[in-house]
Amino acid sequence: MTDTTTVIRNAAWVVAWEETTSQHVYRRDADVAFSASGILHVGERYEGRADHEIPGASLLVIPGLVNVHCHSGDEPIAKGLFEDTGTAALWGNALYEYSALVDSDADAKVACQTIMLGDLMRSGVTTLLDIASPHDKWLDLAAESGLRAYLAPGFREAEWRVVDSHRLDFEWNKAKGRERYAEALAFVDRARAHPSGRIDGVVAPSQIETCSETLIQEAVGEARQRGMRITIHAAQTMAEHEELLRRSGETAPALLERLGVLGPDLILGHSIFLDHHSWTRQRTMDDLGRLAVSGTSVAHCPVTFARSGMILESLGAYRRAGVNVGIGTDSYPFNMLEEMREAVICSRISGRSVFDLDTAGIFSAATIGGAKALGRTDIGRLAPCAKADLVLVDLAHPAMQPVHDPLRNLLHCAAERAIRDVFVDGRAVVKDRQVVHLDYTGAGRELQDAQKRAIRQAEKNDTRGRSLESLAPRSLRFAARV
Ligand SMILES: [Zn+2]
Repeated sequence: MTDTTTVIRNAAWVVAWEETTSQHVYRRDADVAFSASGILHVGERYEGRADHEIPGASLLVIPGLVNVHCHSGDEPIAKGLFEDTGTAALWGNALYEYSALVDSDADAKVACQTIMLGDLMRSGVTTLLDIASPHDKWLDLAAESGLRAYLAPGFREAEWRVVDSHRLDFEWNKAKGRERYAEALAFVDRARAHPSGRIDGVVAPSQIETCSETLIQEAVGEARQRGMRITIHAAQTMAEHEELLRRSGETAPALLERLGVLGPDLILGHSIFLDHHSWTRQRTMDDLGRLAVSGTSVAHCPVTFARSGMILESLGAYRRAGVNVGIGTDSYPFNMLEEMREAVICSRISGRSVFDLDTAGIFSAATIGGAKALGRTDIGRLAPCAKADLVLVDLAHPAMQPVHDPLRNLLHCAAERAIRDVFVDGRAVVKDRQVVHLDYTGAGRELQDAQKRAIRQAEKNDTRGRSLESLAPRSLRFAARV
């Protein structure tokens, strides 16, 4: 098959990559030419062959967004359950006592993954890092979606147990953890060998506190031997932070530094509760420096945490300290543009200043920051030789009007409503707002039954035998019958 060329003619606005300054810049009335092999041209009129032409008069063209942290496994069916609840004795976090109860069964996993992939691409994501428990269709579905996917099969040696709604315990089963670890290594090798060239693996000890130091060191060694990325949840909750202090008196970055695993190939999930955070008991300020000097990346996912009243202090401060930060969505709503908006708002609230982070800064984090975290110089930018991962934004959408600074309109107002088409490797994955290669609508229907099954299982899993209605009452009570 010949490599056909598509040209977006005279695009009103283009976010182009300026190589000399390593920055995104606006271009007006520019042609963007691309094929499956990559971006061919961004600039004045493209004189080469054009097999397809897209009129660009009402378009903003931006590079595809890079999501460095999301979970396809069961998050879509947790929607509507625990948004208003949390464990009071664990800083109000819902993760350990509530979210952990909900798990999708084998039948639901495909629907959950389909929804996540569809939601992400509809919000402009072209590359994602998905941390999940592997299921039979995981790799094939990621490949079928047409997205660029880094699949990270999580493994751990301990399970969380919340005792009487107040104490977080750990139930260790190292043999089982080792089995999962071996399976994960076999999986990431398969992922990397996928013929699409768009799939890779990531080695993912699930959480810093559920894996032994030995396992973390071994896993990082295996990843480095393979030239793969490593990701681990670290400094994500106060309960974890306190547990690490109890065990060794260290913060997560200090512990990882001692283990010799910090580095540019490591992506830390969340990294909120560092030694400068106002909730922690340290009065030192060494952790950001540890991450910056080692080149370790942070995957920042503000929405899930802000929903629980928790906030990173602050994204602007991390960036000014020289820490590379990429953006992820973690759980639903899997809306990268909303996530970016909330990242700006949270940054300004926790940094107590409108100047803490600007629109260019968040856009850079969600593109170049993510690309750097994944060790790539060919994604997150529109420049010749980069991959043809790009997003067409409809400037005619009412939420994009009036157009003075279209990136601001997109991030602070329109979000995914204005995303029209999304291309990965020059191939459309979203066309006229519709997901092209997945049964997105069918998956949505399946979630209803899947959630009912998950709720029944959650009630069985709860050690105190509570019903869902008592675990997490609905937002409104039902009207009395008259
Ligand atoms: Zn996560």
